[in-house]
Amino acid sequence: MVATATSIRQERLTNAYIARLAALALLLAFAATQAQAHTFQQHLTPYDPLQNPASTLNSASVATLESTTNNGATFQLFYGNGLAHNPDAEAAFNRSVQRWADVLQDPVTVKINVDMRPMDDGILGSTNTTWMHFSFSEIRNLLSSNLNETNNALENSLLPYLPTAGQFDASLPWTQATFNNMSLTQANYHALGGISGTGADASITFAEGINWDFDPRDGINPTAFDFEGAVTHEIGHALGFISEIDYVDWVAVQDRTSEAWPWPLDLFRFSPDDLQDPDFNFATTTRNLVPGGSHAFYADDIIIPMATGYYLGDHRQGSHWKDDLGLGIMDPTADYGELLSLSQNDLLALDLIGWDVIPEPSCLILLSTGLLIIPRRRQPRHPNP
Ligand SMILES: [Zn+2]
Repeated sequence: MVATATSIRQERLTNAYIARLAALALLLAFAATQAQAHTFQQHLTPYDPLQNPASTLNSASVATLESTTNNGATFQLFYGNGLAHNPDAEAAFNRSVQRWADVLQDPVTVKINVDMRPMDDGILGSTNTTWMHFSFSEIRNLLSSNLNETNNALENSLLPYLPTAGQFDASLPWTQATFNNMSLTQANYHALGGISGTGADASITFAEGINWDFDPRDGINPTAFDFEGAVTHEIGHALGFISEIDYVDWVAVQDRTSEAWPWPLDLFRFSPDDLQDPDFNFATTTRNLVPGGSHAFYADDIIIPMATGYYLGDHRQGSHWKDDLGLGIMDPTADYGELLSLSQNDLLALDLIGWDVIPEPSCLILLSTGLLIIPRRRQPRHPNP
């Protein structure tokens, strides 16, 4: 299925647009456990699209990794010069993308710039993700028809019932009557069958001089951070694990307003209270894009708590699971010595936002049930198609 990009709006080069890109520089916050009290660092590196476009591929060597078990996703890593003398980091990057290649069977190529270089104190790294925007209906229709897995009961129970542009509503700190546009990462768009968009899907740079543990296969050194896990996390964002709430949060803390462009992830983002409402309706119940309070990813019987915003919420970027509940690689923080692993929750979310995940999601459902956190009344759930 082919979609065409809408014209980039005039506001592209405004501060607001640049701020949107800055908001996409998402990274794990790292807990400094050496101190008595945990101090968390936030690593948002402002991103200037005029100077450092994420879509420009590194000219250094390229390595291509393909899953050998299926005709799935191909990952291309474009190594920067900072990796030339760090084979341990390079190997970790390779293993990280292999993790994703092993579970994603979409016939797409994901291109990622990777590098290491000195960074300012307190910065462990940054990721810039290439993203696009289209009309709400265009993306909604791509998502709702992404039923490639015939045995995927969860996809079949949810995706055909995604809200139409006329049905969709989201709560914001300000009033927005209609939602005409949606955002998504270039990689996510390609997974949905879109063909426009070239260049890098993300540029991931980690800091030199940090005590990284580059090989998790023998555990993570208690005085070091899981490098391969951190890379896997960043790629998760590039694949589409991004919420508009972080942009909303950034705008709202300045007492400003802006038009919100939801991401596919946001179509499953609700207030837990609304999920327990007997009148909950997947198509028409208002999505939650107000920082703070409680947020949850809704996947039918599976409800996964989400972070609620760095500035006005729980001090974690909302493009993550709720912190420290062991919910998956998209947990917003990492501790020294902590092994970061992909979870069924991570795969479930990617499956619903457009990727075709192995193993089959019927297995995902069984495995994920144990991760239920928030009880919810069952019915009614969907409108009639
Ligand atoms: Zn993150």
